[in-house]
Amino acid sequence: RKEGNTYVKLDSSLRSPVCCVLGHVDAGKTSILDRIRRSRVAAGEAGGITQQIAATLVSIEDIAAETVSINRSHNFTLKIPGILVIDTPGHESFSNLRTRGSTLCDVAILVVDIHSGLQMQTIESIKLLQSKRAPFVIALNKVDRVYGWKSVTNSPFKDSLKVQTEEVVQEFEKKMEAVIAELAMQQVNAVPYYKNKDFRKCPAIVPTSAVTGEGIPDLLLLLPLLSQKFLSDRITKRDAVECNVLEVKVQDGVGSTLDVLLLNGSLNRGDKIMLCTLNGAVTTKIQTILESSNMKSASGVQRIEGAIGARLICKGAEKTLAGTELHVIGPKTNEVELKKKVEAELETATSYLSSGSNGGVHVQASSLGSLEALLDFLKASDIPVGSIGIGDPNKKDVMKSSNGYKCMLLFDVHISNPLRKMAEDSGVTIIAADVIYHLCDEFRRLMRTRQMTGEVQRGIYPFIATVMEEYVMKKADPIIIGMHVEGYLRVGAPLVVPRQGQAWLDIGTVGAIRRLDSPAPMTSVQDELVLIKIVPPKDKTGRTVIFGRDFTALDQIYPKLKSPNDIATKARMQNLGTKEEKAWLRKFMKVYGFLVKEE
Ligand code: GDP
Repeated sequence: RKEGNTYVKLDSSLRSPVCCVLGHVDAGKTSILDRIRRSRVAAGEAGGITQQIAATLVSIEDIAAETVSINRSHNFTLKIPGILVIDTPGHESFSNLRTRGSTLCDVAILVVDIHSGLQMQTIESIKLLQSKRAPFVIALNKVDRVYGWKSVTNSPFKDSLKVQTEEVVQEFEKKMEAVIAELAMQQVNAVPYYKNKDFRKCPAIVPTSAVTGEGIPDLLLLLPLLSQKFLSDRITKRDAVECNVLEVKVQDGVGSTLDVLLLNGSLNRGDKIMLCTLNGAVTTKIQTILESSNMKSASGVQRIEGAIGARLICKGAEKTLAGTELHVIGPKTNEVELKKKVEAELETATSYLSSGSNGGVHVQASSLGSLEALLDFLKASDIPVGSIGIGDPNKKDVMKSSNGYKCMLLFDVHISNPLRKMAEDSGVTIIAADVIYHLCDEFRRLMRTRQMTGEVQRGIYPFIATVMEEYVMKKADPIIIGMHVEGYLRVGAPLVVPRQGQAWLDIGTVGAIRRLDSPAPMTSVQDELVLIKIVPPKDKTGRTVIFGRDFTALDQIYPKLKSPNDIATKARMQNLGTKEEKAWLRKFMKVYGFLVKEE
């Protein structure tokens, strides 16, 4: 520890940079975080609060101690007070670090599993980082699992690489190159940090193992280095309070608590504050400030200074939206103006809703940040949003969902059973997931299914009909003939007869269906011999389609598909239906594939 301290020379004008960890499930985000925080995970209990505060300060002394050996060759002077890491990894917490269109995250760690490469959430994370212009480094994790790797616990990566055989080094480089190529496709020019000449343009790759600790010293040194070199303006302390709510909880016996990130300025016990809720601005007082280094004392601390993570206990703050700003009301503050500002912020965050979208899905997310991220994705995926909610859905939310698309997308929230039942009763489909792209996928699937159902009702569904000559009742205007239907035919279905090399012949729509032995009309038929009335089209000259002249018993009759890409049919074939139905549909699709191509 002492040895490390020779590299520390604090610059009191700088604050700790905020660092957030992102990446795909199982890439090792939590493990990397644990490595970075090591012993700093808050121990102890204050006022019944056992959960950790949403942000942990890793002090520069600790970083210095852990980077002694690697820093011997760099001789880099550490000036920042530490690194403030956000304790929940993932892009939801990143999204909550929002502030008027930009992000409070100073530097992010994107964790990529070297063996899996870029995955869905890796790409989601990259898009998020790019859209907020957040600088990031890439922890290329799980190097210890490269075949034949000899681990050197907690060693700087280069020292680790030195002890590997040539084959292992090659294998490692092959894997890293593959990831670099994948990153390039996402417009990320990543370069191993030890070769990186332009950190501004090229995100650095740090090979790591969260299990053996290899490469962690490199990561721990790189973060302060990049912050001091490239972010010094950003991390220069400011007096004005800049504070963001990360999490809101209601705890038994404590009341409502807010986990906040105080970036700049200071907060004092007793400060009057203004918070943002979905119903507007709320004014309250800070009763208690708990800080992770001081969790043992239930009364907390008197004052905190940025940058730091803390838990505040405040009355009436339970409706606060995570991802919004906390404002201190000083003697000179114009409360009316501030209230307007707070409410305007909420409006901007959710503004694209009011841009006249009629109908659409109802979207419900756990926090403003995650809602915003979700809305961004839905927008990019062209999924219209009709209404929104934050937090667990209530009756009103279900009612809102029964308009428009009759669909609720729930992200990271819980819906109670009675509400679920209520939704079902009003025909609302609930799609819940805690991965954004799953929601989008599920929604698309739902739409395809619904579209299919819609087509069934309009009569467009796979069938092949063959005319039974012995049952030709009427040849024209309307045509009434006996047909054997293979598949499913409904009244209203448009019919065509394929013609090789020419335009297909529209022969009209199904006007009525009945069995040979019964006059009772049917609305649909499946795999049966029936009598069908065909209402043929007439052109301007009054010319119409006549059986025997325009088509004969040798022709087969198909439904006229509205769109050449009858995706709904395909989707239904792939996703729904019994085994028999699938086989049956597949047979018809073969024909349609041919038909569609011709059209
Ligand atoms: P997260 O979902 O991204 O937070 O991933 P976790 O940190 O929970 O890790 C997922 C799994 O991968 C766990 O079983 C970890 O023990 C394992 N893991 C994480 N990092 C490494 C690593 O560097 N090497 C190896 N061998 N396993 C790792």
